[in-house]
Amino acid sequence: MTEHTFPSRRASLYKDIPAKQWDDWHWQLSHRLNSAEDIGKVLHLTDSEFRALNTHDLFRVDITPYFVSLIDPDDPQDPIRKQVIPTAGEIVPFTGMMVDSLSEDRHSPVPGLVHRYPDRVLMLVTTQCASYCRYCTRSRIVGDPTETFSRAEFEMQLEYLRRTPQVRDVLLSGGDPLTMAQSLLEELLTKLREIPHIEIIRIGSRVPVFMPQRVTSELTDMLQRFHPLWLNIHVNHPNEISAELAEATDKLSRAGIPLGNQSVLLAGVNDCPHIMRKLVQDLVRIRVRPYYLYQCDLVEGAGHFRTPVAKGLQIIEALRGHTSGFAVPTYCVDAPEGGGKIPIMPTYLISSSDHKIVLRNYEGFITTYEEPQDYKPHDATTCKYCQNKRLEPGQSGISGLLDGDALTIKPEGFDQLHIRGGETHRLRSDDSKWKPLGIGDGK
Ligand SMILES: *Cc1c(COP(=O)(O)O)cnc(C)c1O
Repeated sequence: MTEHTFPSRRASLYKDIPAKQWDDWHWQLSHRLNSAEDIGKVLHLTDSEFRALNTHDLFRVDITPYFVSLIDPDDPQDPIRKQVIPTAGEIVPFTGMMVDSLSEDRHSPVPGLVHRYPDRVLMLVTTQCASYCRYCTRSRIVGDPTETFSRAEFEMQLEYLRRTPQVRDVLLSGGDPLTMAQSLLEELLTKLREIPHIEIIRIGSRVPVFMPQRVTSELTDMLQRFHPLWLNIHVNHPNEISAELAEATDKLSRAGIPLGNQSVLLAGVNDCPHIMRKLVQDLVRIRVRPYYLYQCDLVEGAGHFRTPVAKGLQIIEALRGHTSGFAVPTYCVDAPEGGGKIPIMPTYLISSSDHKIVLRNYEGFITTYEEPQDYKPHDATTCKYCQNKRLEPGQSGISGLLDGDALTIKPEGFDQLHIRGGETHRLRSDDSKWKPLGIGDGK
């Protein structure tokens, strides 16, 4: 099998650990490293790392022996190291920094359930992870065992879902759902599956990356009883793709679970088109389809990981056309204030007339597409899908403007602002309220 072309590593500290322990996820979890003293036994710590590790109130540190073994102990710039070992950069504030950068708390109708899109929800089921990413978007709650969700809260989340029929897709995240006790996860999945309108369930998990040993056949046997079930992992750099991860994704794929990947664009880790091309190509080799590439959120502690947005565009420019189409993720900015994921891509449409568009391809070749001049528009009055469309007020968006459901979308206060003085007037040249402003009139 081609999996074996990926490396398998163990830090020298662990060379005498019997395979029976190393391959057991309980052992990996209970031997995680979290102090300067422990981590210093595997890596040569820099002053900045040492200082951060000894800072009170730092976002939680924990690294599995498996994951720390993928780091080159002598390279302070190692791309895996930067993701899990804190540096003093974490303590530096920056313009635009927020604690809850996606305003998830404000979009939660019940604790832990974020409902911001019409047909799907994000369900936070735990605050625990196998290891902690230094740029975590949910560092306000993640890692803190006292912030985790109670049975009563799960029941409230489920109750909300039962009474909200427009939700057809539930995304389990956290924290990491695959760190939960298997029986609890199974119970949650069972209860979700009992809700008839929930069509698909998705899990977002970095466990296969941090601790591939967790992907046992007991786990995949359990998960595959809840199809259609999808799973997104989180890999940022080709060095994370090991023989062990390849084996884990193989097991998940064989259980019929379609796999995707979400990466975060991180300065000093993967802010390079050539690293990203290798990453997405290696991901499809292990049957994981790159799904999203995220711009780093404006979250406290992550300032030193941020790149200009242009870096993401440069990466997509280097992927689209240059490699397999299904290896190209969608580059997104997850907008502040709960704006959600907004895709951005290079501009391929250069110009247009009433019957022709001008396009450029990835090579810079400029071409045209002749549009039909006798297109018979789709007839919404006879289309049963158009007739049965269900709209939630305020969420039909730009698509709703095109559909004719609304003429405009206005900022809050727009109407009041434009009825200055409380009444409207027709603008006529003899209206004393109207005076044309000439150039240079100021204001
Ligand atoms: C990311 C996210 C989803 C899922 O978005 P998709 O684009 O469908 O993958 C759903 N809800 C929330 C709150 C999210 O942040």
